[in-house]
Amino acid sequence: MSNDGANMNIRNQDNNCTRTRIPVLRPSLPDANRLLPYLRRIDQNRVYSNFGPLSLELGQRLADRFQVNAEKVVCANSGTTALATAILAITGRATSRRPLAIVPSFTFAATALAAEICGFEVIFSDVSAESWGLEADKLASFPNLDRVGVVVPVAPFGRPVEQNAWRNFQETTGVPVVIDAAACFETVAHSPHKYMGRIPVAMSFHATKSFSCGEGGCVVVDNEELANRVTQCLNFGFFRARECEYPSMNGKMSEYHAAVGLAELDHWTEKATAMNRVSQIYRENFSRRGIGHKLVSAPEICSSYVLFVSTTETEAISIQSNLESSSIGFRHWYGALHRQKYFSREPAQNLPVSENLSKRILGLPVAPDLDRDSISFVCETMDTGT
Ligand SMILES: *Cc1c(COP(=O)(O)O)cnc(C)c1O
Repeated sequence: MSNDGANMNIRNQDNNCTRTRIPVLRPSLPDANRLLPYLRRIDQNRVYSNFGPLSLELGQRLADRFQVNAEKVVCANSGTTALATAILAITGRATSRRPLAIVPSFTFAATALAAEICGFEVIFSDVSAESWGLEADKLASFPNLDRVGVVVPVAPFGRPVEQNAWRNFQETTGVPVVIDAAACFETVAHSPHKYMGRIPVAMSFHATKSFSCGEGGCVVVDNEELANRVTQCLNFGFFRARECEYPSMNGKMSEYHAAVGLAELDHWTEKATAMNRVSQIYRENFSRRGIGHKLVSAPEICSSYVLFVSTTETEAISIQSNLESSSIGFRHWYGALHRQKYFSREPAQNLPVSENLSKRILGLPVAPDLDRDSISFVCETMDTGT
């Protein structure tokens, strides 16, 4: 992620070319003053990790937000470990009978890496051009389904994945499913019953996500037994006794990260309002220019992303060059993973929708304090390219 380009204000009054760079994302997390009461509690408790009181309180407060019981939310030290331990908990490591994991190509590298950590060989599948995600109906006819140990649908940019279709898939095919809902903190909270349930959901609280504790994440499951299993997978396979009983890792959230998460929750309404205001100003600007339909932003997706969806790859290239010459940051947040160095295989797989989306979807600058002028400048720069 990029935290460079400190000054986001545009200074164009002196002459035409003194414009400072606008970074693609400039996160803002609780400052030292907001953290202090929580740090004092850590000093008092002298508990620093191992599902300590702050981490449990964070789990409880997240559970309230997701309208589930506290024991169904387990905090982890990253979104990647949350996803990997959710996979371990529901199905264990890959076996010779079921060595494969199906993952969409259009996602962030962590989705595939989490499946690999659990021993699976990753099979990339193409996504839908409409939803940008895997489709349960289509996968049900995947030829090698009897060799698949897990399917990991992704909630693209926080656009949430409904439980229903995947629960049916899991019931009819017998293949376990875990949802990578990394950026879904805001979107699932709107209708938790639709997006939380039998299929485990893993989230990320990395600094690039709207709700963040720096590095962190959580798993949300629908029963206490599975939650205990996730806890065990995050803690060396220990459960009650100091004996490794299960494939696992160290994925526990430290009390210091939990402190940041709690302070972030204290001021969440304020932050969410600021982030949504940025999305709103983008929408107004693009609509005024008649290109509002090419923008995808909160509340449909996570508010740390404002996405411009070019009609063609050529249009995307021309827009990128305009942004570059104006020193405006942008990012292709997701790649077509099957084309990335580590994941690519010979002969190259052809997954046209993922390849096309990865080139056409451009992440634009976002920060809770991104000002109106900067946003207008971004829109103006992009409009000349269309
Ligand atoms: C951010 C993200 C992750 C990884 O989360 P970390 O907390 O950075 O480990 C996984 N999947 C997707 C889709 C993401 O956007």
